[in-house]
Amino acid sequence: KIYIKGFKSFAKPLELELGRGFNCFIGPNGSGKSNILEGLIFVLGKSSAKQMRAENAANLIFNGGKQGSPMREAEVSIHFSNRDKEFPVATETVKISRVVRQSGNSIYLINDEKRTRQQVVDFLNKARINPDGFNIVLQGDITLFAEMKLEDRRLLIEDISGISIYDD
Ligand code: ATP
Ligand code: MG
Repeated sequence: KIYIKGFKSFAKPLELELGRGFNCFIGPNGSGKSNILEGLIFVLGKSSAKQMRAENAANLIFNGGKQGSPMREAEVSIHFSNRDKEFPVATETVKISRVVRQSGNSIYLINDEKRTRQQVVDFLNKARINPDGFNIVLQGDITLFAEMKLEDRRLLIEDISGISIYDD
């Protein structure tokens, strides 16, 4: 389940129940499909606002649209099932939340307890979840890969195949 409130185009709280396997969001251009995916990488700890199509973190907050009033903060929460014990905690579900304020500062929570971004990233890593992972393919990514310079694409392949950590 994903909960979104005040993030990008979502002024009204939105709860999305996701099933196992294939899920699909359908809607006309500009209705917020990509914003949902960006909400997902946001709560997983993505640090680059630009990769969520915003100038800075504060611009991720609902700006009032055409006639509404801007909101003070944005929140995205995600509830993972922990039935298969992918996360090293005893709870049946794991809730990760991130709130961003007008100052641009973020607050992170694991099961409603305050944590640092690094703690959330490390925690998600244990379940092999990474907001920068190449298993998350955003709109425009394929075009980007197709139009990349050959050398940049080689670096990308080295990164995915796990070679570049040896360069470090
Ligand atoms: P497409 O089918 O064209 O890819 P989409 O369904 O993916 O469209 P999005 O790109 O998710 O649509 O949504 C774009 C809309 O979100 C725009 O109307 C834009 O104004 C709105 N939007 C983005 N950021 C904010 C914000 N901070 N506050 C209010 N609205 C925002
Ligand atoms: Mg889109």
